[in-house]
Amino acid sequence: MWIILDEKPYIKPTPEMKQKLNCIFCGEQLILRRVGIPRIRESGGFAMDIAYKCPKCDWFVIFGVVIPEDKAKHLKKKMQNKQYIPEDIWLHSEKVKERLESWGYW
Ligand SMILES: [Zn+2]
Repeated sequence: MWIILDEKPYIKPTPEMKQKLNCIFCGEQLILRRVGIPRIRESGGFAMDIAYKCPKCDWFVIFGVVIPEDKAKHLKKKMQNKQYIPEDIWLHSEKVKERLESWGYW
């Protein structure tokens, strides 16, 4: 379901899964909002939180993806203990721009 990468965004859905990443409320395609730093799970092992948001209705969902320990340690170091926030994706989303403009942000 997920592909772990060495570079940003560090983890992404497989093409098959990406096709299904739509909002359960309005059907809009979800947009990556942030990728969390690999963390140790309560039950042991490592996981990464991957958050997606609907640009239309604001539905927000987090996937907790289990990843191998070696990849987790590698990514944790690579990410320098900072979650990845793809601001470039959001700044170029026409739907997000329209909503922010309507609220007077720009
Ligand atoms: Zn929605």
